[in-house]
Amino acid sequence: MKDKLMDFDKALELFEPVIGLEVHVELNTKTKMFSAAPNIFGAEPNTAISEVCIGLPGSLPVVNGKAVEYSISLGLALGCKIAEHSSFARKNYFYPDLGKNYQISQYDEPIAYDGEVEVELADGEIWNIPIERAHMEEDAGKLTHVGGATGRIQGAEYSLVDYNRAGVPLVEIVTRPIFGTEGKAGEVASAYVQTIRDMVLALGISDARMERGNLRCDANVSLRPRGSEKLGTRTETKNVNSFRSIERAVRYEIQRQAAILASGGNIIQETRHWHEDTSTTSAGRPKSDAEDYRYFPEPDLLPIQPSAELVEKLRAELPEAPAKHRRRLKESWGFTDLEFRDVVNAGVIPQIEATVALGTSPAQARKWWTSEILRLANERGVEAEELVTPAQVTDLDAQVASGAITDKIARTVLVKMIDSGKSAAEIIESEGLAVVSDDSALEAAIDQALAENPDVLEKLREGKLQAAGAIIGSVMKAMAGKADAAKVRELLMAKVSE
Ligand code: ADP
Ligand code: MG
Repeated sequence: MKDKLMDFDKALELFEPVIGLEVHVELNTKTKMFSAAPNIFGAEPNTAISEVCIGLPGSLPVVNGKAVEYSISLGLALGCKIAEHSSFARKNYFYPDLGKNYQISQYDEPIAYDGEVEVELADGEIWNIPIERAHMEEDAGKLTHVGGATGRIQGAEYSLVDYNRAGVPLVEIVTRPIFGTEGKAGEVASAYVQTIRDMVLALGISDARMERGNLRCDANVSLRPRGSEKLGTRTETKNVNSFRSIERAVRYEIQRQAAILASGGNIIQETRHWHEDTSTTSAGRPKSDAEDYRYFPEPDLLPIQPSAELVEKLRAELPEAPAKHRRRLKESWGFTDLEFRDVVNAGVIPQIEATVALGTSPAQARKWWTSEILRLANERGVEAEELVTPAQVTDLDAQVASGAITDKIARTVLVKMIDSGKSAAEIIESEGLAVVSDDSALEAAIDQALAENPDVLEKLREGKLQAAGAIIGSVMKAMAGKADAAKVRELLMAKVSE
């Protein structure tokens, strides 16, 4: 059934949106959270597992020390306090994605709590997002439902389970309710998750690839009537796996909930699934509160009591905060607000940073990553960074800067570099794409063009310089774009004064 939606602006007139974000980060430790099984992506199903991952009787968990350190670093980067005493808890539920029938998580004693993250929107607006807690847990396995149209369990003939992901270390970061975002609720949510991505990449603790599920966001949204103090009932839209979808899912929920509330209905507290193809959400399972999970202290693990020395050592090693880092880049690159917004929207800050580090000018790096590469990436339905490396861009740009090829030809070379993996120089050489620098070839083309446009020389001699355009144009055409227009003009003007 299709949801009724209220116009977005109308919804905001009547209601105040409140959002809350839960982000799961998979840590890139070598081994899993509670066993020595390898933490790898893409292996044959059920090969990267140990007896602990599948909950065989008698198997006992052992905490991964590196995962604890990574979690503390992340907690510190989130501006949190690190608990002097923190413990694990069992979150009980029956579902085949975890063989034990419970997930080891943290409940009332999380490793990190009470933080704040500075987030900068594309338009430069700053938001300080309050963090309630960040806790450690293990990921669950992956179910594939076969048969049935939607890939969901309902109507499936059978289900496959892969425990490779079971036991992968996770940190769940939970915000406090975020007020006052108004029409920017979706943007704030998306920018926050991007900031978390930048943060964990800078820390080097996660691969942070949303399409692989390394970084997953659940977006809680509720509405309350204007002037009301009481929080409305929230829905939790699960695992929205791109920044753009987060923004759209939040907007969608605002419009959907507003239509229900305005017609006198009630919002059901439930999880919802985001559908990328239709840009809509649909009901998942009803969700009440934590009691249902019968949390209790994990008896097989000792509490975590990090020493003050360890915490201070990790604090001293923290990288620059993402919002601060961005401001520094914008300044040092000398981009205007508009240019920088383009870069943010294109999601290519790390690419530009890496390209500039290899010696390309910031202006050229920006030009490449926000125009031609982005266009090709959209055309091919991939991310810009999957298409080409900063080293390839630097290689290509050096050819343009040296005058070996023109800007226009460079775009052709780029496509060939992407498709063949060859260097710019190899392609220019093998395809004969170098600028024609041989004066006699250019002069012959100029003479030919002048013969076809006999009145041009006369006009130029009378000082009507715009007449040169036709000659330069036809020389460029004759040279298939491989001539330097300034050089052609220079040679032409020499003929005028002959
Ligand atoms: P759960 O067990 O349901 O996942 P969590 O405490 O992990 O609960 O996360 C709930 C998230 O929803 C938090 O980010 C919290 O700030 C947010 N939240 C709680 N109440 C509301 C509400 N009424 N409207 C919007 N967000 C809310
Ligand atoms: Mg939660």
